[in-house]
Amino acid sequence: MARKLRPRAGRRADERKAKKLRDDLEKLALLKEGGSSGNPFVISSPAQVDARTETTACPLCEGRLRLDEHVAEIVDGERLRVARCHCVACGTKRELYFHLRSPLDS
Ligand SMILES: [Zn+2]
Repeated sequence: MARKLRPRAGRRADERKAKKLRDDLEKLALLKEGGSSGNPFVISSPAQVDARTETTACPLCEGRLRLDEHVAEIVDGERLRVARCHCVACGTKRELYFHLRSPLDS
């Protein structure tokens, strides 16, 4: 007896659903603190970039994020640090944004 294959249309629908879910989760991630340049994590020391990145869960699979590098960027006149990282579970690359608050700001 031939193995029963799932109908092609059904599989496509599943893929669409999975993609939609991923897109929604990505959109949500952008709204979270640190997810975009407009809503960065506020830190007082560059050392906190590593710690924050490692304790932030992947928004797609809740996996751990590993920091690849952090770079300084100026976005809209704001000096930001961008943590380029990837999820150790699903491999999705991600950028987290940090605003380094100088002691003079407070
Ligand atoms: Zn992940």
